[in-house]
Amino acid sequence: MAEPFEIIKADSVQVKCDGGGGALGHPRVFLQIKPEVGKIECPYCSRRYVLDKGAKAHAGH
Ligand SMILES: [Zn+2]
Repeated sequence: MAEPFEIIKADSVQVKCDGGGGALGHPRVFLQIKPEVGKIECPYCSRRYVLDKGAKAHAGH
């Protein structure tokens, strides 16, 4: 059985992920959550970012 991937609450549609650093880390990447989807999975480390309730609808740019 695989470990469940880590789920992280995002307070903005734009999140950055570096895998948490250390051995499991990866180069920092920016991920854009589509509001209609409400979540995104990091292609590097498979952490799942879930848009928190009340989060901003748009990234500040
Ligand atoms: Zn990641």
